[in-house]
Parts: sequence; structure tokens; C-alpha cells
Amino acid sequence: MTNTIGFKGQTIHLDSEPRIRVCNRCRYVVGKIHPITGKVYTKTHRHHEVYDYNDPMAHTIELCPPCHRIADFENYVTKSNMAKLLVVIPDELEKRLREHIQVRYKGKKQGFITYTVTEAIERYLQEEERKKE
Ligand SMILES: [Zn+2]
Repeated sequence: MTNTIGFKGQTIHLDSEPRIRVCNRCRYVVGKIHPITGKVYTKTHRHHEVYDYNDPMAHTIELCPPCHRIADFENYVTKSNMAKLLVVIPDELEKRLREHIQVRYKGKKQGFITYTVTEAIERYLQEEERKKE
């Protein structure tokens, strides 16, 4: 068990283990089979509802990996600083994206296209920024 939390891409070291290994949202317990995904996770995450640069542990809750992904996505959609992009992509790429979302998110959430595309753009930009360093 490591006494660290992620904070804006950095790893913050803490004096003690901040997690109790139970998800605050779905009550999943680390090491058990997750009731929704059927996977076994080895750790929980510390989710930041708000980032406080003076106190990285402030406004955090402990979540299992699937709940963390959903919480980040919900935070993201509720923020008002959203831009709309109208993009044209090849049919084949769109088909593959929809199939991927169907499998990964069981096709339930319309918003996962936005989430997935945002994640892809972020990865692309991180990669490009890393090349410049
Ligand atoms: Zn959970």
C-alpha cells in the first residue's frame, strides 16, 4: 500500500494511508468482485471534487475505479466551460468508436462519446506537449 495520491498529474506523498479501501459511492470493497464490472480491483482512488493547491487532500472522496471514471465524467459535464466541436470523421472510425463504447460502457450512455473523444484529445495533446520538452 502506498501513501500517495494523484494531484493534477503529480504524485503527492502523505504521512499515512488515506484510504479505507471501500468506495464511498457504491460501497465496493477492494479485493472483492465488483458487482457492476465483474472485475477485482487492487485499490481505490481519491477523487477530487475540487482542487485546492494548498491542500491536495481537501475535497476528496474515496472511490472505486469505475465510480471514479463516472464521477470525473459527471464533474466534467456539469462544468459550464464546455465547447462544442463539429467534426467530420471517416465512417469507419465512427463505427469503431461506437462499437468500442458499446462494449466498454454497455452502450447505455450517450455522453460517453463526448467522454471518449475528450480523453483522446487530451492524450493527443499530452503526447504532443511531451515531444516539445
Ligand atoms: Zn464504486
